[in-house]
Amino acid sequence: MPEEERPLVGWSRVADSPEMLETIKKNRKSSLGFAVVLTLLFPVGFLLAGLFSDEMPLNDALIIGGVLGLFMLALNLWRFANMNQRGWEGVVVKKLEKRRYEKREISGPSYMEYIVLIKTDGGKTKRIVGRKWDRDMYDYLEIGDRVRYHPAVETIEKYDKSKDEVIYCNVCRRRNPIQNDRCERCNNLLFK
Ligand SMILES: [Zn+2]
Repeated sequence: MPEEERPLVGWSRVADSPEMLETIKKNRKSSLGFAVVLTLLFPVGFLLAGLFSDEMPLNDALIIGGVLGLFMLALNLWRFANMNQRGWEGVVVKKLEKRRYEKREISGPSYMEYIVLIKTDGGKTKRIVGRKWDRDMYDYLEIGDRVRYHPAVETIEKYDKSKDEVIYCNVCRRRNPIQNDRCERCNNLLFK
């Protein structure tokens, strides 16, 4: 799209473009394939171990493999259900930095959590949490910013991008200069 048709204030039309819908479809297919492989990996792996290894009785192998397989299946179903949920819009209301202790002991190792709280138009509170070095969204979003969540790509879009020098790819999350029309890493259209 030429630049004059892509103003920096307002929701991007890229999300509904045929190209992006095609990308979403492709990504979904490959993550579905990946999910199937992961789900089968444990039962098949443990079955083989039970059959061919003397150290693993077949019964134990079938139970462990089955339980891990079911666990992966549940995890993947939950993720796909979330990807099909409806998007939401809201406003950033709060930003917090919290120190977390890995073993719940104040003297132990710790890391930072960067939390952005968003009040949706429906009155719910959503949280974006970045841990350790992941403070991209924390730095990108300011209190008062209006945002939209795109469930198909599991990322946020900012309504007013006019004061920004960077934009995050909604497909692979790479940081790009705001002048870019396409992502430097995955070449998908940026949401602007
Ligand atoms: Zn990208």
